[in-house]
Amino acid sequence: MIVLIALTRNSISIVINRMLTRCLAREEWMARPKHAMEIFALLDKSNCGECGETTCLAFAGAVFQGRKGIDRCPRLTPETISHYGHGAKRPNIVDEEREAYLEKLKGEIVDIDLREAAERTGGRFSGDKLTIRVLGKDFRVDTGGKLYADIHVNPWVAIPFLTYVLHSNGLALSGNWVSFRELHNGRERYPLFKQRCEEAMKQLADQYTDFFDDIIHMFSGKKVGAHFESDISVVLSPLPRVPIMICYWKPDEGMASSLNLFFDDTADQNLDIGSVFSLGVGLAQMFGKLALRHGFRNSDAPAEGPVRE
Ligand code: SF4
Repeated sequence: MIVLIALTRNSISIVINRMLTRCLAREEWMARPKHAMEIFALLDKSNCGECGETTCLAFAGAVFQGRKGIDRCPRLTPETISHYGHGAKRPNIVDEEREAYLEKLKGEIVDIDLREAAERTGGRFSGDKLTIRVLGKDFRVDTGGKLYADIHVNPWVAIPFLTYVLHSNGLALSGNWVSFRELHNGRERYPLFKQRCEEAMKQLADQYTDFFDDIIHMFSGKKVGAHFESDISVVLSPLPRVPIMICYWKPDEGMASSLNLFFDDTADQNLDIGSVFSLGVGLAQMFGKLALRHGFRNSDAPAEGPVRE
């Protein structure tokens, strides 16, 4: 049984790794913005509308989401356009693979006992549905594998949710916070995690002054006492037994700001490392969209300086 669970966890990580590898391969021929604000910073902010969007901010969001090619803005230099890639949306192999994998996981739900899964995952079973609180909102899956949610179902979150339902070991939280690097198999994935998740969130926190208040309000986060000498520590519950603590250090006396995520040291038992990665990246993406919707205070790039380790 243990061997089977190990094999299943291994195959999940292999699939997610393959998607990440494709993602990286794509970046070899085209620089990929880390968030919409990276695109917005390149625009002249005249809101002229020549790209077909009413504002430069809306255009930045459309480019980031792949709905528009960056070359639709006639005011950008050819160098900028070729750096980020010509043309409208390219076929997104990663999105297609992610969707296919999501469908596969939904198919596997049919074969498990959701009543038993409710006990293991900290959820509740009623009728034909398992309900789990995800970021303070109800997320449900029925015995046929169909998903229901009070919020938009981002695939980067839906995959960890289903993986958690299928394979969580149901360990109680230990209360010991560790970095992504310290989780099993986290070290080799950390550079990409840092780039896609921690750096993206840090830039939002640096420039979007209500970042922490808004994520607490929107995603039922909880401010906790300062951990690791941070200025702000907020705990979110994307899954009941996989809480995430975000710690932010403000810029101080020539030191650049810093942001790190911490996990309960049982996280790699209740979820595979690929799904923990997806959860962090999914949160960063959702926060980016939240920033766009709630009016992002534009400013120049964060000050350069030594970054805390
Ligand atoms: S064409 Fe360029 S400058 Fe004009 S609104 Fe669109 S993004 Fe902004």
